[in-house]
Amino acid sequence: MAGEPQADCLFCKIAAGEVPATVVRETDTTIAFRDINPQAPTHVLVIPKAHHPDAAALAAEAPQVAADVLREAGEVAAQEEVAPPPGGAGGPRTGYRVIFNTGAGAGQTVFHAHAHVLGGRGLEWPPG
Ligand code: C5P
Repeated sequence: MAGEPQADCLFCKIAAGEVPATVVRETDTTIAFRDINPQAPTHVLVIPKAHHPDAAALAAEAPQVAADVLREAGEVAAQEEVAPPPGGAGGPRTGYRVIFNTGAGAGQTVFHAHAHVLGGRGLEWPPG
């Protein structure tokens, strides 16, 4: 059933506190922790506590929790001081990116929905 914990899912285990992680924020429905292999000075993952395999499944199966994940991504950016000032301008180290890799071909390696929050350095466009 959608949202049920999966025995072989690493992020279900992190959400349950069974695998350690450096948690930076937590709500009833989400948990945010530092990526173990950071690609930027700020690299935090925001996950739903419930299991959904990717962002599209999360949005279809639990739209309120998908909104919670997006809101928390913004809260992480503010907490990490990488959010831009109102209007979006700011220096080269302000601004951040929220990424949902979806599918192995796009780099998804953990099949439990997660938003990457990346910031603290200049971020090129287009991404690789
Ligand atoms: O988008 P993708 O599925 O590749 O992202 C998974 C992320 O989970 C990776 O950036 C990886 O470094 C991170 N990870 C982690 N802690 C683990 C295992 C993986 O932060 N124990």
